[in-house]
Amino acid sequence: MDTGLEGKAALVGGASRGIGRAIALGLAREGASVALCARNQETLDKARDDIRNETGAEVKVVSLICDMARHDDIKAAVAAAVEALGGLDIIVNNAGGPPTGTFETLDENYWQHAINQNLLSAVRTTREALPHLRRSGSGRVINVTSVAVKQPIDGLMLSNATRLAVVGWAKTLSRELAPHGITVNNICPGNIATERLISLIEDRARRQKQSLEEAVALEEGRVPIGFLGEPDDVANLAVFLASDKARYITGATIQVDGGSTTAVM
Ligand code: NAD
Repeated sequence: MDTGLEGKAALVGGASRGIGRAIALGLAREGASVALCARNQETLDKARDDIRNETGAEVKVVSLICDMARHDDIKAAVAAAVEALGGLDIIVNNAGGPPTGTFETLDENYWQHAINQNLLSAVRTTREALPHLRRSGSGRVINVTSVAVKQPIDGLMLSNATRLAVVGWAKTLSRELAPHGITVNNICPGNIATERLISLIEDRARRQKQSLEEAVALEEGRVPIGFLGEPDDVANLAVFLASDKARYITGATIQVDGGSTTAVM
């Protein structure tokens, strides 16, 4: 399939590991230049070098230190990405998930941070990148959210609240930007075996006094397809949504979860 991604430029948030890293690699494999954003220089540079080694010298891969919860960092990262890659066609709004907790354990600081990291990061990155996406003629905004937007997950109150706000914002934005050829879509991962998921499973195992193996087997048993997904399973959808082939898909919210969401929509 010709994705039309060769020569395009992408900025990917939370790209030093997990889903963000896999999406950056997937886009680079298709010939897009990528700017990887995350907070830790060492892990970020390692991801950059791995992607460079795998994709060769034809695509540009740069790493940019950016805390997606901080507005100033986002402004600087978008400007640096445009400078390094010569423009921006695709942004992937992704960052770490918020901590678990119940209403009574999560104070104002937790809420503010989750709103900054998981809602305003997408709003701000898109705002900063918009002039460049318009210039692209086929701009793409891809938000990595969670299956929590289809079926809220007990104990993940901050995620349940902030991700739904992203979906509401993205739907309105998709209609406003459609005349400019820019699409806006949400991907909802679920049961993807990344460090984030494993730490959530470890958390649960501790609370329920299980071994990690037991907790993983329990988790797999809840997935109709019978196993946990890989970051590449999410990246494949992101690459498709970023491609020319997805030009007529906008305002959509699509889960990648091995069938575990039982909700119809
Ligand atoms: P992960 O924790 O494995 O990776 C997150 C990446 O984002 C890392 O590179 C980390 O360094 C970076 N990061 C974290 N906070 C950041 C910040 N403030 N600024 C910049 N970079 C930051 O997570 P993942 O499993 O790859 O998940 C990606 C997103 O998808 C998260 O928001 C997560 O909550 C969501 N999600 C994942 C699953 C799953 O099954 N793995 C399910 C539902 C939702």
